[in-house]
Amino acid sequence: AQRLFDPLRQFAEKFTAIQAGFTAVERVSDILDEPIEIRDPEHIKSQHSAHNYRDRPPHSSIGEIRFEHVWFAYKDDDYVIKDLNFVIHPGEKVALVGPTGAGKSSIIRLLCRLYEPSRGRILVDGIDVRDLPQAELRSRMAVILQEGFLFAGDVKSNITLGDSYSFEEITTAAQQTNIDQFIEQLPQSYDTQLRERGTNLSSGQKQLLAFARAAIRDPHILVLDEATASLDVGTEALIQDALDQLLVDRTAIIIAHRLSTIRNVNRIFVLKRGQLVESGTHKELLQQGGLYASLHNLQMLGTE
Ligand code: ADP
Repeated sequence: AQRLFDPLRQFAEKFTAIQAGFTAVERVSDILDEPIEIRDPEHIKSQHSAHNYRDRPPHSSIGEIRFEHVWFAYKDDDYVIKDLNFVIHPGEKVALVGPTGAGKSSIIRLLCRLYEPSRGRILVDGIDVRDLPQAELRSRMAVILQEGFLFAGDVKSNITLGDSYSFEEITTAAQQTNIDQFIEQLPQSYDTQLRERGTNLSSGQKQLLAFARAAIRDPHILVLDEATASLDVGTEALIQDALDQLLVDRTAIIIAHRLSTIRNVNRIFVLKRGQLVESGTHKELLQQGGLYASLHNLQMLGTE
């Protein structure tokens, strides 16, 4: 009974992703087809302490992601990721593209430790993610998935997810992500109750709220599954601008659906059946005339 009006508990119970290290989780049901719980290994539990994200070196020197001979199968030997190797440098922005089923979401799930590789390892700043306490992983990385997932609660707690932040930190995050003016127009501003399905917000507004949720955590690494939903022209510009700001000085790995995003990244990784088949800039890949070029020409990037 004591759980009744505790949206965070409700959130945590429904979405084990919180335990698995997500800080900003949207459309969790899409990513999590079945409940999974990955606990911290015993050997790192003792080191676990409340992480102070403000006591960190500047972003520019951290946020490296490294996949080393990563293999992964959801079941048996049915590998959906096959010997994947790459390094994403601190501050670099990488887009993942490729046909449906190529393994883009699986890469993100592995990075967030929703699953663990069958073979190989994934390092964040040189540390195997299996050795990073969840709290540490959560503080290094924010995940924004598709259209903003909201839970029943006020705007504030939809941004903080119940972690303690000052009101100023909340409004700053909202300003940085172009959602402050909208929030201020709501009947009770930051105290306005939102419905679980977020029906009182447009998809663009939900996306911006998800950005604010990520911004407040000031992560080194942003993981983004870009919204595919068509947005109205006004919000689209706000979102692009908020996203550009959010990406500054951060490493980002983006499942990109929009060409504008893809053109702006440092490198594009093209995936096919769990393997990295091409990588380079938009221009380089078009010139190469391979899979990216044909996907691009078919206008099927990331979606079909
Ligand atoms: P993408 O994001 O590029 O569309 P995914 O990573 O979602 O690709 O999928 C890669 C492969 O893994 C596909 O063959 C897909 O059917 C399979 N797959 C995805 N999620 C699961 C799951 N939870 N259980 C079993 N197989 C899955």
